[in-house]
Amino acid sequence: MKTSRLPARTVDAARVLFCFSTVAFLAHTASAEDAAEGVASAEPAEQTRPAGWVDEARVIAAGQAEPGSWLAHGQTYDELRFSTLTEINRDTVDSLGLAWVKNLNIPHRLQATPLVIDGVMYFTDSWSVAYAVDARTGEEIWRFDPETDRGSARYSCCGGPANRGVAAYKGKLYFATFDARLVAVDQATGERIWDVDTTHYPTHSPYTITGAPRVVHGKVFIGQSSSEFGIRGHLSAYDAETGELAWRFFVVPGDPAEPFEHPELEEAAKTWGGEWWKLGGGGTVWHSIVYDAKFDQLIFGTGNGAPWPRKIRSPGGGDNLFLGGVMSVNPNTGRMNWFYQMTPADNWDFNACQDIALLDMEIDGKVRSVLLQGPKNGFFYVLDRENGELLRANPYVRLNWATHIDMATGRPVEDPEMAYDEKAQWVLPSNAGGHSWQAMAVDPDRGIAYLPVQDMSAWYGLPQSFLDTGEYELNPNGISLGVDMRPAEDAPPQPEAAGYLKAIDPLTGEVVWSVERATPYNGGTLATAGGLVFHGDAAGQLAAYDADDGSTRWEYDTQGSTPASPITYEIEGEQYLAVLVGRAWRREESDGRMMVFKLGAEGEMTRELGEAEIPQPPPLTVGEEDVARGEALYNRTCVGCHGIGGVATINADLRMMSEETHERFQDIVRGGVLADKGMLSFAAAVTEDEAELIRQYVISQALKARAAPPAQDNRRPGRD
Ligand code: CA
Repeated sequence: MKTSRLPARTVDAARVLFCFSTVAFLAHTASAEDAAEGVASAEPAEQTRPAGWVDEARVIAAGQAEPGSWLAHGQTYDELRFSTLTEINRDTVDSLGLAWVKNLNIPHRLQATPLVIDGVMYFTDSWSVAYAVDARTGEEIWRFDPETDRGSARYSCCGGPANRGVAAYKGKLYFATFDARLVAVDQATGERIWDVDTTHYPTHSPYTITGAPRVVHGKVFIGQSSSEFGIRGHLSAYDAETGELAWRFFVVPGDPAEPFEHPELEEAAKTWGGEWWKLGGGGTVWHSIVYDAKFDQLIFGTGNGAPWPRKIRSPGGGDNLFLGGVMSVNPNTGRMNWFYQMTPADNWDFNACQDIALLDMEIDGKVRSVLLQGPKNGFFYVLDRENGELLRANPYVRLNWATHIDMATGRPVEDPEMAYDEKAQWVLPSNAGGHSWQAMAVDPDRGIAYLPVQDMSAWYGLPQSFLDTGEYELNPNGISLGVDMRPAEDAPPQPEAAGYLKAIDPLTGEVVWSVERATPYNGGTLATAGGLVFHGDAAGQLAAYDADDGSTRWEYDTQGSTPASPITYEIEGEQYLAVLVGRAWRREESDGRMMVFKLGAEGEMTRELGEAEIPQPPPLTVGEEDVARGEALYNRTCVGCHGIGGVATINADLRMMSEETHERFQDIVRGGVLADKGMLSFAAAVTEDEAELIRQYVISQALKARAAPPAQDNRRPGRD
């Protein structure tokens, strides 16, 4: 039973927020089981429930009762992504082969974790087309297209549309869309039941959603993505039956001249400076939401500050609650229990939306109920989830923005030399984070976290216009980072990028083993009691590593990219491995697909894809100065989807443009002829002359890449 729930840091706010949390706690003492029983009378009796029925009791029991299912985003509420299935193990994995493939006819990034419930697999593609397929064969049972507005692609922060999957609850499936709707469909038929806009403005604003909802206590929880469009992040709870808004928790306070939407914001507002509400503030809850059945709390990661530089966002300082941390609320009321801020006064896009795993661990001689998280800022955290107390924080990648976490205050100790307000420079980790949305897996028996990480740096500098005038304006046509990411002419060489799968001891920070992958920004993980850790890379190599020492036990070339997180399930005694495979990085045109493996299967890909070379572009017809203008225009308008320097792994890599595409460039960019594929008309954002300068810049990038050895070309985007 909980007693006190002091926020672990943010001392000023702590005393007051403690009162809120105490009140909230006293007002609600029902356990998950109580809540499930409380509404059971309106539901079909247990014996007559349709196949696929998922409720709290089933998910809580699943770890023991049905290890062959994958009922929720991280398999169960604890989100360990650790399967106790053992048919596929380090001795048998050799014979793992392709059982079936389902082509999805979509060229965008695929990130969903599928669910497998009573023999049926459910997942979404990038535009949130939802599929139900026979998990043994891939045969389609139904599909539902929510007709996501392709125009929403323009609000992508990080490489175009994506969706990370569905939630199942009491006969319905829930998922969100890139145009920021939350949709409920009948789990058996795929028919739409309700469909709501999750934004809080009267007309649709530049919100997108890439995350998967969670459902518990008759409520569906969802946040949004893309802080960098002048928006305020929030997590909302909707009635699972009706889609009616139940409560909403804002991460960033609004204009203090208006009433605060909930009392926590009054305290939060004291930690902000200037007129932050005019710039939105950021803080989107774009990925992790977990339900903690033990303490009946909802825990979610909060987004980065936007614009990124605190000097622009919150002049005068302040920690900027509730950015960049882990928030616990009461799932019934949305009232705060506790908050721990990983990155006070975020300056770097260091959100804490990365996945959260729940388990018990013995720490300093005492069993504690903890949460584990490796947020973007490069430190791996162990928090006591009863009260948010910091127990451990150790670096898991190369980092230079802070020296360490002060365990007494719970605060990172920033390296003043690295404050880019004074001097633009390379910062580690980059805005992509040391770890992002790609799932980690945690083996609760070994007490080891398997974390997909990247050593990547980014150039951070304040925009010249802000340095000159002290003013900052949001970009009305696109993303507003507030940071100039173009390295200075006299910049030192960029630190080399590399991607790893690391087995980490969360208590000591020790890297038990580490595998360097061929590409720096890779996939999610799955660990199993078969002694294996599955992990795919951006170049499409899906691998199984020995959980003991990281040695390679199995490898498969998916001929795509495998950033999505694999899952495993069992039907009629056979164990399967499933993963969504996205468009290949620098392969010939390829479609996304679901690929499923089992022992002894010998399925084959329907077609082999070759490596694609960057074609010879048309000649550059402008001088260096105009190329630089083109670059600035590109960075203002195109970089969000097409990547830094035109290097995109998932959306079109513009350096790959054919002669014909170069000829149609104006029609595509300003005419909108590829609008149905998500490439809208940018006629309002760039003039014909400006579009041509962008094209010239892309040509310069293609020429540069053709001249450089391939190993140099490792600046992968894929930020969130
Ligand atoms: Ca961000």
